[in-house]
Amino acid sequence: MSEASAFAPSQEEPRRYDRLFIDGEWVAARSGRVIRSIDPSTEEVWAEVAEADADDVDDAVQAARRALRGPWGGYSPTKRGEMLSKLAGLVRRDARRLAEIESRDNGKPLRDTLGEVQRAADWLTFFAGAADKINGHQIPYRPDALAYTRLEPVGVVGAILPWNSPISLCSWKLGPALAAGNTVVLKPAEQTPVSLVEIGRLVEEAGFPAGVVNVVPGYGPLAGAALAAHPHVNKISFTGHHGTAAAIMKAASGNLKRCSFECGGKSPYIVFADADFERALSVAVHSAFRSTGQSCSLASRIFVERPLYEKFAAAIAERAGRIRVGMPFDERTHIGPHTSAQQRDKTEQYIALGRESGARILTGGGRPRGFPRGYFVEPTVFADVDNRSRLAREEVFGPVLAVMPFDDEEQAVEFANDTDYGLVGGLWTSDVGRAHRVAAKIEAGLVSVNTFRPVHYMLPYGGYKLSGFGRENGFDAIREYTEVKAVVVDLAQDMP
Ligand code: NAD
Repeated sequence: MSEASAFAPSQEEPRRYDRLFIDGEWVAARSGRVIRSIDPSTEEVWAEVAEADADDVDDAVQAARRALRGPWGGYSPTKRGEMLSKLAGLVRRDARRLAEIESRDNGKPLRDTLGEVQRAADWLTFFAGAADKINGHQIPYRPDALAYTRLEPVGVVGAILPWNSPISLCSWKLGPALAAGNTVVLKPAEQTPVSLVEIGRLVEEAGFPAGVVNVVPGYGPLAGAALAAHPHVNKISFTGHHGTAAAIMKAASGNLKRCSFECGGKSPYIVFADADFERALSVAVHSAFRSTGQSCSLASRIFVERPLYEKFAAAIAERAGRIRVGMPFDERTHIGPHTSAQQRDKTEQYIALGRESGARILTGGGRPRGFPRGYFVEPTVFADVDNRSRLAREEVFGPVLAVMPFDDEEQAVEFANDTDYGLVGGLWTSDVGRAHRVAAKIEAGLVSVNTFRPVHYMLPYGGYKLSGFGRENGFDAIREYTEVKAVVVDLAQDMP
């Protein structure tokens, strides 16, 4: 338990997190309202969190703006890296506690949230190391001039987070933003606000100067919209639905904020007949149902070359039927409930659509037995799905998989790209030439061969088309958080 924070939530339930983290202080929300966070496995309120509105967001933005000109602005890049390293160490130290909180908030099995929190520390460590390697370059503009570029912080960053992986996705934004010298206002999703308030406590313990990181839980149309429209926010980094991204773009246009958007996906997973069947199958099961399907990078459309199609579809249905749906704190659980009733209902609507469309349901389709409460749905596999149907085109964000046949390489690429999204794609083949040919043709920001969704802090990650723009992770992420300034110094002694 963190001792170094000036704020501690109540331990009895519902736990009370009745403070916002603004300007290095724990302050009450102006409105006095709270967000009730529901444990999706019990449907009970387990925490109450202070709700920020537009005035609180304004306070946070002003604090972040002052912090740019305060001690933080004078920190050397190496010192910024040290601070990020310290934060990474604290996240690692508290990984179990943070994972438990995240599992209460969003219903993921503890072993998944534990892995995510540990990886978040790795992400922060990577960007800690990047902080003093952010260089401009010299340009041979004229013999009698010195021209070079400086990479400067963009300024105040508004980070708007979704509910599916709050701590992990927060590290994707905090890491590069702070490495590059920006200050941040974090807006967690209203469904899962608690773990990011805990990150605020660790930011305080790490000793970041006041205002460098602020945490303002609140509702999207209020706190999120206020952040997107605020004239002193210089950049929005957002993960969530593309419709929300479009609303943010409009709101952000007032002061031409820089934006990066990581939105949904409908990722194709192509299995050629010459693939390693067993590996393609195991990875497919893992890649389709993990996190109850609530991740933008999962394989949701599986295309199988005709000779393997029936065998693969039957095998994946058999494996999916063996996935253990259960309570997040039960070690035997593979997948937990949906994060919200709304998300569960959405999944069930798509299952109904699949049935109506004439697709063949191979397994699942209902609610698992033995759970009188909680937002649980069985892993569900549909075969013979029409790639033009809504089930194949729209992001379900639930444990529902569409399996479809294809006849040749050209058709596989055509089907894979016949989508509004373009985040992740993957193919399985033992033909090296085909691997590179198809990888080049898939319209997605991350394509893998004989593996799937290798999401890593070193690999740029982001979308084509409705999956968004801008890149997170890797050094490419730093570009999103810096302005390029060209400086020219005239060296000529004579007047021109
Ligand atoms: P959302 O886009 O509504 O919410 C994401 C974040 O945006 C939240 O913090 C929310 O408060 C905020 N927000 C909402 N309206 C806003 C506004 N007008 N201005 C500024 N911020 C605003 O996503 P959701 O409702 O949580 O989920 C809906 C769908 O989004 C899901 O079914 C899924 O398809 C997709 N999604 C994708 C990801 C991803 O990782 N790419 C994550 C979560 C959700």
